Amino acid sequence: MKYKRILLKLSGEALSGDDPQYIINPERLEQYAKEIRRVVESGVQVAIVIGGGNIYRGSEAERSGIDRVQGDYMGMLATVINGMALQSAIEKQGVYTRLMSGIRMEQVCEPFIRRRAIRHLEKGRVVIFAAGTGNPYFTTDSAASLRAIEIEADVVLKGTKVDGVYSADPKKDVTAVRFTSITFEEVYARGLSVMDLTAFTLCKENNLPIIVFDMNKPGNLYRLVQGEEVGTLISS
Ligand code: UDP
Repeated sequence: MKYKRILLKLSGEALSGDDPQYIINPERLEQYAKEIRRVVESGVQVAIVIGGGNIYRGSEAERSGIDRVQGDYMGMLATVINGMALQSAIEKQGVYTRLMSGIRMEQVCEPFIRRRAIRHLEKGRVVIFAAGTGNPYFTTDSAASLRAIEIEADVVLKGTKVDGVYSADPKKDVTAVRFTSITFEEVYARGLSVMDLTAFTLCKENNLPIIVFDMNKPGNLYRLVQGEEVGTLISS
């Protein structure tokens, strides 16, 4: 296996799938849980940061008259709901998990304690980080970069519904091409959006590679951790 310890970032929207009747799509959840089990069984340590955009985003708050900071906390709580669903789905696959939160919530998850998170990973447990960084004005992409650095992950895997980073939006520009690899500098220079800039800069400054890949293609996650060229690798 190419990577020993990975940080997988899944957005909240990824969990809702294509069927609009679901906020959390059970088929999608099961599919992701199976992909994750396969990787865990191959001996790779897996940490996950889960988003909350399928339920609530802080940026929506002001539109409904809710204070921004309050909205951000609501968004963070939304990630806990997704984290609980993901935990349940992964455990159904017979894999041990721990849900750790950046906001204390003892009845449903452990508080985030770095050393404890690392210990769980060493024991082969999947660690799901919920509540983002625990601070407003951040995103779960930033939480993914931060937690990955804290736990000394080898790579951040950003699972999306597109198969990598393109030179332009492929839906609008037929000449758009996908990069198999690109440097942090080039992403800045071309103004490409990989993650928000806070998240991206954290990875760049700590020399932590990011891979953007299509999480919905069966087997992709496994191929990736094995070392196959999947998606787009962003590195120094
Ligand atoms: N959020 C926050 N601090 C964090 C992480 C998340 O305030 O460290 C809030 C923010 O309002 C965000 C929401 O939680 O909009 C849901 O997270 P995000 O939008 O990153 O989820 P995703 O787009 O990955 O589903």
